[in-house]
Parts: sequence; structure tokens; C-alpha cells
Amino acid sequence: MAGDGTEILIDEKGKRTDGRNLDQMRPISIKVGILKNADGSAEIRMGRNIIIAAVYGPRELHPKHRALPDRALIQCFYRMSTFSVGDRKSPAPSRREREISSIIANALNSVAFVEAYPRTTIDVYLQVLQADGGTRCASLTAASIALADAGIPMKGLIAGVAGGLINDTAVLDLNNIEDQKGSGDVPVGYSPTLDEISLLQLDGVFTIEQFEETLKLSLKGCTDIHKIQKEALKAKYIKIRDEVSVEVENLVGKTEIKEDIKEDIKEQDAKLTESTIKEDKEKKVEEPPLKAPKPVPEESKKEKVPEESKENPIQEPSKEGEDKTEVV
Ligand code: UDP
Repeated sequence: MAGDGTEILIDEKGKRTDGRNLDQMRPISIKVGILKNADGSAEIRMGRNIIIAAVYGPRELHPKHRALPDRALIQCFYRMSTFSVGDRKSPAPSRREREISSIIANALNSVAFVEAYPRTTIDVYLQVLQADGGTRCASLTAASIALADAGIPMKGLIAGVAGGLINDTAVLDLNNIEDQKGSGDVPVGYSPTLDEISLLQLDGVFTIEQFEETLKLSLKGCTDIHKIQKEALKAKYIKIRDEVSVEVENLVGKTEIKEDIKEDIKEQDAKLTESTIKEDKEKKVEEPPLKAPKPVPEESKKEKVPEESKENPIQEPSKEGEDKTEVV
């Protein structure tokens, strides 16, 4: 089955160009908190797509006249790196990039409690490092996670995936070839928690039935991605918990060492006190027992002055070499 009649996009076994079934998504992996300098961040890999989301804020908005008096302004900056596609992409923001930035910001606005941060901005940067179809949906999935990682209160997470039509067949999660050669695509952003669609676009011509079938596939895909999002968020906090518990264990270890040292000090103290008491006892034994002073006879109360001193009361300091006469 070929989208434009020349390329085989679905073979006779119902397999797509990358071997997937019609209702099968590409492998997805999400990492949370990958950037140290952002308030919140996430990396998503969806098939060959690699996208990084970084959130800064809520923070002061410049120029101030753009600030909203009753809520935060969510600003998105979706950009494709020059090396993200086969042909070098111009670094200047294209109309497409501005449009995608705007629809992602609108979708995030519907789930974030923006009214909690009046007059501020929440900036969401989405950098596509490698593109292979469905980047707006993958970016929305990552942005939603990065917002949560930044601690922005949210009513729910949004997951995004594009359904599409290859000839008359509805398929899930179009890759680049399918996007280019297929007959149409329907990017969807959906929050399973709120049961709300916050992004819906349609490119191509669909019957109502085809549209409904494609939408159904996309909503199922979003629900599956939502589970991966929650797991990714949990994984971050499990990692933090493990790191903290290791630190606590280390601290407890150090405390034990301190306790050991304290015990040693106590032991040494005890030994020292023991030996001091022993020494004191020995000294006491050597010392003559204290006796009551004898009454001094009246005569002996008069100071006995040596004859020499009587004659010469001022004692000259003895000269060197002379015998030192001790005065008693
Ligand atoms: N693409 C490209 N160069 C561009 C823009 C897009 O090669 O300047 C490719 C890229 O792989 C992208 C795909 O075309 O994922 C489909 O682009 P679309 O505009 O449909 O957006 P997306 O499907 O990525 O949300």
C-alpha cells in the first residue's frame, strides 16, 4: 500500500516500513531532570526523534507590559537544530516552528495552574536534536513532563501522538516517510487524567469515519504514553530517594565511628581517673598523718634573730665566688 501510489508504506502482511503494526507506536523512552541548569527538564526519544525540553520559571517577564495580571504566560520555543534533519535546517526560526511553539503553549496553558503565578512567565524550550516525524507531539509530551519537573502545579499531564491515514487505512504514530508520503495526519494532545484534548490538528482529507478511527488510535496511543510519562517522573524520585538513603547510610556510618571514638575517649578517661585516684592514695600513704598543732610556748613566740643579722640587718647580696650563706 502506497501513500502516493509509488512507495510501499504498508506491505501485504499489514507491516509498515519500519516493521510496525498499524496500531503500534515507535519505542518511547523518557528521562526527567536531565539538565542541571533548568528548573525542569526532560528528554524524549520516540523512534528516531530525540527532543530535549527545558523549563525556566515562573520568573519575571520582560518586557513587563506583556505580563498578564491574573496568571502566568507560558511561552514555548520549539526549535529544530540545524543537524536534526537530512537537509541542513536554517537556524532562523521558521513559520512552522513559531506555529508549533504556539500550539504547544496553548495546550500547556490548559493543564498548568497558571493563575497561581500572576505577572510571570514560564518559558519552555524545546530543542529537536533529531527529527523523524511527529516532533510536535513528542515535544508536547516532553514539555508537559518538564513542567511537572519544574514543580509547576498541573491538573494533569498531556501526552501527544499523531495518528494518520495511509491510503484508506488509519495508522498510529507516523514516522517521517509516512508523514510525507501518507494521505494525512492528525496530531493529538490528550490528558487521560482530565479526559481532555488540548491539541488537535488535521492535515489531509478524511471521512468522518476515518477521522474517528484515527482519533481513537491516537487517544489510545496517548493513554499508553501517559503511563510512560508517570513512570519517568516516578523514576526520578525513586533515584533521588535512593541517593538520599545512601547518603543517610553514610552519615549513620560516620555517626557510628564518632560513637566509637566517644567510647574510646570514655575508656581513656576512666583509666586516667582510676590511675589518678591510685596515685592520690599512694601519696596519702606517704604523707605523715595530720596532727593537731602543738601549743607554742610564750618564749618561742619571740622571733629568734641570728647574731649576725642583729648587727647588720640589711643583707648585702653575696658576690660571685663567695660562699652563699643561707639565712635561716
Ligand atoms: N522536517 C524536515 N525539515 C523541516 C521540517 C520538518 O525535514 O524543516 C521533517 C521532520 O522529520 C519532521 C517531519 O518533517 O518531523 C514532519 O514535519 P511536520 O511539519 O509534519 O511536523 P511533525 O510531524 O514533526 O510534528
